[in-house]
Amino acid sequence: MSVDQNCIFCKIIAGEIPSAKVYEDEDVYAFLDLSQVTKGHTLVIPKAHTKDIYQTSEEVASQLFARVPKISQAIEKSFKPKGINILSNTGEAAGQSVFHLHLHLIPRYDQTDGFQ
Ligand code: 5GP
Ligand code: ZN
Repeated sequence: MSVDQNCIFCKIIAGEIPSAKVYEDEDVYAFLDLSQVTKGHTLVIPKAHTKDIYQTSEEVASQLFARVPKISQAIEKSFKPKGINILSNTGEAAGQSVFHLHLHLIPRYDQTDGFQ
């Protein structure tokens, strides 16, 4: 499994930086975003370090996306949102700030919860 020693998400997976775990299996880790856009804002990451969607193999992308229904259901159960946005930023111009591939799962409660 590839790891980047300077990557904060690799450090989170290794337990070197604490995080609020939402889900974990052998390939994927999900945890609450430090800056919650809304309550329950979750990041889903592959355990294998991969910089962004350009660099990601079909195998790793499949593992990552395959877990989205299960993790969304867990968020739905815990936080009772009315909907969830699922998105990923690729490249600084698109807003990517951590260069370890991740999906944002952003629960939505109503149309005044900061939707942009
Ligand atoms: P990006 O801007 O790359 O799409 O998303 C990176 C996300 O990682 C941001 O929403 C930011 O709040 C979150 N983040 C950055 N550092 C940490 C951290 O150390 N712990 C957690 N839980 N989230 C982080
Ligand atoms: Zn990493």
